[in-house]
Amino acid sequence: LAACGKKESKELVMATNAEFPPYEYYDGDEIVGIDVEIAGAIAKELGLELKVEDMAFDSINVAVDSGKADIGAAGMTVTEKRLKNVDFSDSYATATQVIIVQEGSDIKGVDDLVGKSVGVQLGTTGDILAADIEDVTMERFNKGTEAVMALAQGKIDCVIIDNQPAKVFVEKNEGLVILDEKFADEEYAISIKKGNTELLDKVNKALKTLKESGELDKIIAKYISA
Ligand code: GLN
Repeated sequence: LAACGKKESKELVMATNAEFPPYEYYDGDEIVGIDVEIAGAIAKELGLELKVEDMAFDSINVAVDSGKADIGAAGMTVTEKRLKNVDFSDSYATATQVIIVQEGSDIKGVDDLVGKSVGVQLGTTGDILAADIEDVTMERFNKGTEAVMALAQGKIDCVIIDNQPAKVFVEKNEGLVILDEKFADEEYAISIKKGNTELLDKVNKALKTLKESGELDKIIAKYISA
């Protein structure tokens, strides 16, 4: 009887932060993007229906850990620190942090960041990287777009953010450019509650199928032109 009120879940709940094009963003009322489609394809493989929950980036792994969400998919980089709180699937994409500046800026590379004001999205790898640079003034925003806006308005000197969203944001803001010098490569993966090896194995198996069938490449190619 205890199980009386408990319905068998037919959903795969994905926690994300829909401020990260082309991986997840709003198209009208709908959240779309690479991660949404990958998670949808995984859900299909598992015979489940995908439900997407939008939240602050730094709430995603809390939701995964507490069981409020089954997976976190948010262009999320695998880091040692996050691995203490969640498990990660196999990687499905590579990324790097890049520096966005105003055209003609005296910041030409990483070494020029000393003493500058740097905009980042709160709790991201860009945040962690920037905080390590000597003498910088950190400006932390809830959304990457807000950081880019502040840069466009001349309120900060640069933004450090993932390469693909950077491309999208720069295209939308005339006068902003991405520097050639990049930081180290990062791996994007799906976060899953620590110890839930059953779901982890299923997700990895589904990812493998998507990689082998070419569907993963197809999804990525739909949003990112080579
Ligand atoms: N890849 C970065 C990170 O994992 C940023 C992700 C994001 O803002 N959605 O921290």
